[in-house]
Amino acid sequence: MDSKDVSADLAHVLYTKEEIQAKIQELAAQIDADYEGRDILVVGVLKGAVMVMADLVRALHSHVTMDWMAVSSYGSGTQSSGVVRILKDLDTDLLGKHVLIVEDIIDSGLTLSWLQANLESRGPASVEICTLLRKPEAAKVEIDVKYVGMEIPNEFVVGYGLDFDEKYRNLDFIGTLAPHVYE
Ligand code: 5GP
Ligand code: MG
Ligand code: MG
Repeated sequence: MDSKDVSADLAHVLYTKEEIQAKIQELAAQIDADYEGRDILVVGVLKGAVMVMADLVRALHSHVTMDWMAVSSYGSGTQSSGVVRILKDLDTDLLGKHVLIVEDIIDSGLTLSWLQANLESRGPASVEICTLLRKPEAAKVEIDVKYVGMEIPNEFVVGYGLDFDEKYRNLDFIGTLAPHVYE
């Protein structure tokens, strides 16, 4: 392996490309069955959810429209505070729509809990959440997440949309960083 190869920055692979793709297919089949032919407005949360969104919508057989939101959590340091600011709002009117929020990972759940309440206040027919990863140990708030890909231990992961300092989002697998990257 070339020393400039991005994979040299990773300590170990948590989920391979194949494992992720298999899980996405499973989630899509479950979603198709639940929505029974109803149209779904899939809302991706930028930037982390880009990969999940792209693969999930291609695996769905339901009629789908897509929109995007970008939010930022106020707060000092790396911990999300639960105080959320909208950086980019939806272009779509949610009235009467079946909304499916797509996330890469739920850590504390504070951001998503705020987002869910915000979207619910706009008069949709329903709001559900689909996340590829969830860290159960880190949950600070109870949120009802209907579709969860994998539950992972409370460690920092990158790849498949997830970044460290905006890098590693382009990896097609998910892994942990080698200590030399952040030490
Ligand atoms: P929370 O659920 O704590 O409000 O925030 C979730 C957000 O924190 C995610 O959308 C993601 O941007 C970031 N995050 C949480 N855990 C991780 C992780 O293990 N790796 C990376 N790269 N980002 C994470
Ligand atoms: Mg995210
Ligand atoms: Mg990030």
